[in-house]
Amino acid sequence: MAQDLCNIGIIGAGPAGCCCAYFGTKLGLNITLIDSSAPMRTILPTGGGRCNLAHAEYDFRELVKNYPRGEKFLYSVFSRFSTADTIDLFEELGIKTYTQEDGRIFPVSDSSKEVQEKFSEKLKSCKFVKEKALRIEKIGNRFKVVTDMNSYTFDKLVYATGGHSGYEMIKRIGVSVVEPKPSLVGIVSKEKMSDVMGIVIKNVTNKETGLSDDILFTHFGVSGPVVYKISSLKARDNFPYTLHFDLLPELDDLQSVLNNNPHKFIKNLLGEYLPLHFCEFILKLAGVNPDTKSHRIDGKMRDNILERLHHFEVTAKSTQKDGETVTAGGVSLDKINPKTMESKEVEGLYFCGEVIDVDGFCGGFNLQNCWSTGYIAAQSLL
Ligand SMILES: Cc1cc2nc3c(=O)[nH]c(=O)nc-3n(C[C@H](O)[C@H](O)[C@H](O)COP(=O)(O)OP(=O)(O)OC[C@H]3O[C@@H](n4cnc5c(N)ncnc54)[C@H](O)[C@@H]3O)c2cc1C
Repeated sequence: MAQDLCNIGIIGAGPAGCCCAYFGTKLGLNITLIDSSAPMRTILPTGGGRCNLAHAEYDFRELVKNYPRGEKFLYSVFSRFSTADTIDLFEELGIKTYTQEDGRIFPVSDSSKEVQEKFSEKLKSCKFVKEKALRIEKIGNRFKVVTDMNSYTFDKLVYATGGHSGYEMIKRIGVSVVEPKPSLVGIVSKEKMSDVMGIVIKNVTNKETGLSDDILFTHFGVSGPVVYKISSLKARDNFPYTLHFDLLPELDDLQSVLNNNPHKFIKNLLGEYLPLHFCEFILKLAGVNPDTKSHRIDGKMRDNILERLHHFEVTAKSTQKDGETVTAGGVSLDKINPKTMESKEVEGLYFCGEVIDVDGFCGGFNLQNCWSTGYIAAQSLL
């Protein structure tokens, strides 16, 4: 049965859709939110359940540099709604925030659940429809949205379905989409790493990108902060590709260390820098018996060890299946007006959040994209 519920429809009640609905409601707009699950369900796992809602970078010219895709586009967006505005938004919602030492901003409660509840409370005046949108049709100046249970007609439509689904529906009405690829994700390696799975090495440096941070070895390959950043920078690269890590940048003169500790087993000597089990793994890769005394390490053995430590090679075969935190790709940015978030291809259709071809590093940048683009879209719906 066709129903005329209201003028503005928002498909997707994640952070972006809910933020847009919140600001739209403040402007007195008549809004229907459509989502197949509860509003803000997707905020729950963020920040490990604590919701890293933004990053303490208050200069928007600097903030944009944390987005491998979208830097130029976000310049205009963040000049109107940036980190300080996010903190104000959360205060309006009744959520106090604090900044961690590394710049990540969280609710004082450290609870994503609180964020979900406070948003849901403020959105009570919106009509919420718990249905899955299946098809959109543009009929004259209006949009017909067909769901698994009903159909609705809207004057303007906001599309905020996130990065995991929903692209086909908009492609069918003429929206250009950059092919989605996983980002902020572990890397499956050709080399077997399961012997050292669970081990974290702090502050390694990746040669190809110049990035330094911690690496985690896993049953499928490598993960952890440095790998997440690499996966983001290389999201559009073809597999396979090779990565090299300096696992121990601070050790620049192994020979002196060997000379000063002639009677120590090499595994124990390296064990002063790295986890013992990992040293045994590296030594085996270098073809050196871990129980060799240091004074028995000859030049060739030393160079083999150094090669493994300073040029540790990982052949990336693919990304971890279904492990991505965000999606690189989405609605093509040159087809969206950053001042309104309106499509240049379909009049009256607006986008916000991860559905667009914007993705940031870990640290609160992806949610910032949702709050900012959600705000801009709402202001343009009047
Ligand atoms: C485990 C994890 C942790 C994260 N932690 C952080 C963090 O701490 N900080 C940070 O900045 N970012 C984090 N992110 C990224 C962040 O969660 C996303 O960037 C953000 O949720 C995107 O919001 P969105 O509203 O654009 O899309 P989504 O959150 O994906 O929401 C889209 C909504 O649309 C609905 N939908 C989709 N298709 C349809 C349809 N056809 N019909 C009806 N409804 C539909 C979905 O049900 C969903 O509710 C994390 C991501 C993950 C996976």
